Amino acid sequence: MKTIDNYNFHGKKVLIRVDFNVPLNDKFEITDDTRIRAAIPTIQKIRKEGGAVILMSHLGRPKNGPEDKFSLKHLVSHLSEKLGTSVQFADDCIGNQAKEKAAALKPGEVLLLENLRFYKEETKGDEAFAQKLSQLADAYVNDAFGTAHRAHASTAVIAKFFPNDKMFGYVMANEIKSINKVVKEGKSPLTAILGGAKVSGKIEIINHLLDKVDNLIIGGGMMFTFIKALGGKTGSSLVEDDLIETARAAMVKADELGVTIYLPSDTVIADKFSNDANTQTVPVSKIPDGWMGLDIGPETEKTFSEVIENSATLLWNGPMGVFEMENFAKGTKTVAMALVKATEKGAYTLVGGGDSVAAINKYNLQDKVSYVSTGGGAMLEYIEGKELPGIAAIES
Ligand code: AMP
Repeated sequence: MKTIDNYNFHGKKVLIRVDFNVPLNDKFEITDDTRIRAAIPTIQKIRKEGGAVILMSHLGRPKNGPEDKFSLKHLVSHLSEKLGTSVQFADDCIGNQAKEKAAALKPGEVLLLENLRFYKEETKGDEAFAQKLSQLADAYVNDAFGTAHRAHASTAVIAKFFPNDKMFGYVMANEIKSINKVVKEGKSPLTAILGGAKVSGKIEIINHLLDKVDNLIIGGGMMFTFIKALGGKTGSSLVEDDLIETARAAMVKADELGVTIYLPSDTVIADKFSNDANTQTVPVSKIPDGWMGLDIGPETEKTFSEVIENSATLLWNGPMGVFEMENFAKGTKTVAMALVKATEKGAYTLVGGGDSVAAINKYNLQDKVSYVSTGGGAMLEYIEGKELPGIAAIES
């Protein structure tokens, strides 16, 4: 893998595509700096080795050119503090000021460019725009895994202007290595745990994973489409009728491949979609009319935990129930704890995708699993077996 570990940065100007798309409050204060902290090791390594660092990122979704609320200038003081140096800022990502400031940059210094998405050329993957960005530096580092599945100017197109001087930063390298540990090098028994609301967003992942895993655990809202496909009574639970056939086909495929699909045996049902609803625990295929399943039940928690704790490699994407509501969070928490136990026993555990990451953070368990992927959409596409433009551009 071409990473910053095998490049001589001495005296070089290095353009790093980072993911500084952080949440800001109405006073433009950063409310979660995880993404900034993630990029620090890459930046510091290059500075320490005598490189001058030029940072570029997007922030939010500006529609028509510059907008103050999406300006990266709001990040300058926080970033300066984290890096222990005074970060310079260019109020445009291309143009004279960016050029002059980049040219004057000395080894170890850091320049942050203004939001790339103030130009529509960025998301269009415009080549002339990518070329202008490339002229600011001698080398290109992609460290923005969260946008690796997009063929944008700064994430993919730009790489061609650095045929011998392009590489991955540590965030990218770690994400790729961690996901490969599951999908390419995963030790058996390999178990994938899928949950979340819908089958529709996950069907390609299910199909791709069936070729790789020994066990597939299905919870969350998506379980009811499978239960209905098996002839169960699902009440008013979330069911995607148009995907019942697809669910059935996945179960047939699993059978042919010798993959065991674990579906819940019991479920916590509610008489409305609310934390203060009346609840009961019932067999999963006997949900009365007017009731909906919002979590897995205690018997299922036990079965799922046993499978998880006896696995050597695990991938978890999607909560087991409506974990945002305290009364339907137990299944998700139990699965998170089972992953922690598996990790303690030596399993490799990867947690990825928005809501499972939110869940693992909510229970403060992020340091007790092997890796928490921040990639979201990029991670899912990588698992589906798709080629990510941001990765391909560096590897080609
Ligand atoms: P996703 O974005 O597909 O991973 O879905 C995450 C969402 O699924 C969360 O907001 C959960 O509240 C929701 N979810 C999980 N289980 C259920 C369920 N049984 N019924 C409805 N929504 C659910």
